[in-house]
Amino acid sequence: MVTNKKLAPDYSKRRDRVLRGLKAQGAKNLLVTSPHNVSYLTGFTGEDSFLWLTPKEVILLSDARYEEQIQSEVQDVELLIRPASATIIDAAASVLDTRHESEIWVEAASTSVAQWERLRNRLPNKTLASFSGAVERLREIKDAYELNLIQDSIHIAERAFKATTELLQPEMSEKQIADDLEFAMRRLGAESAAFKIIVGVGERSALPHGRPSNKLLRDSSFVLIDWGAKKNGYLSDLTRMFFTNKPPTRLEKMYRAVLQAQTDAIEAIKPGVLMSQIDAVARKALEKAGLEKRFTHGLGHSFGLEIHESVRLGKGQDRQLEAGMVVTVEPGVYVPGFGGVRIEDDILVTESGHQVLTSLAKHWDEVLGARFR
Ligand code: ZN
Ligand code: ZN
Repeated sequence: MVTNKKLAPDYSKRRDRVLRGLKAQGAKNLLVTSPHNVSYLTGFTGEDSFLWLTPKEVILLSDARYEEQIQSEVQDVELLIRPASATIIDAAASVLDTRHESEIWVEAASTSVAQWERLRNRLPNKTLASFSGAVERLREIKDAYELNLIQDSIHIAERAFKATTELLQPEMSEKQIADDLEFAMRRLGAESAAFKIIVGVGERSALPHGRPSNKLLRDSSFVLIDWGAKKNGYLSDLTRMFFTNKPPTRLEKMYRAVLQAQTDAIEAIKPGVLMSQIDAVARKALEKAGLEKRFTHGLGHSFGLEIHESVRLGKGQDRQLEAGMVVTVEPGVYVPGFGGVRIEDDILVTESGHQVLTSLAKHWDEVLGARFR
């Protein structure tokens, strides 16, 4: 289903849907300040730009650095280039000041308090209201165009992982592995890594967000790698364990339990199921192995233009999964001073259930067989 490369997003349709969502909640317009949301609604991939959206007008506020890029990336949007002397907030205020709207809704999560204050001071005759989630909610459901880009990003991440792990040597440090992996992704066409790559050798794998250090691969029999690519603005997010030798039996037990928890959770994914329920399925599997207390974070998150988007698979998340959502499933167990295991894959919720978008080997015999050559 994720195939047609020529498919282009219909940005005006996306904007119409945002406006409908705003209207349903009593808002008549929106000053979009999140660069990801601006990008989602216009196709513009630069930064430092706002979008003013009403049923009657769509204005992209940017600066001269981006003029050419906008001409080539954006259609059907009025462009306003601010003078170099004006800040983006001043430019927005100048535009809004001349509009007839008396009430102005501003994206809250991506506007700083200082920007808000400045806007309010510059617009004494307007009422400012904050609005959250209008665009983020739409972004939860990926269209065919976005799925294509996510799949591209996953392919790059997976190919780079294979290429990098084939060349691992005992004398390599966590940092070298992370650097090599990022370089491999860039060589394969990625703009960058999706986030700071995590590489944890031995006991350092117990740090769920450990930054790569100078610890050497030879210091242990296992390493945890959490990485992803960024390609055309869209991200991927995977975690695999790599074994350089047969690890302790305790780690094997942890690995098998985490893989079982992940398998069960993925199996449970389909539209209509509560997000918290998927998390509970994984927890139950870990409970059977006596490891549920070692699972210290949520099971997964949606991603796309950003690595952590608004869907969370975790306790208390009482919304339902919907077809078109793309989530990670990443159970992990961590024993401080010994080591941790996490396995992460990317899953699309489909009308009939789910589709696993990632394909790297993860079964015990396969990963154990991938040791140094
Ligand atoms: Zn990850
Ligand atoms: Zn993740």
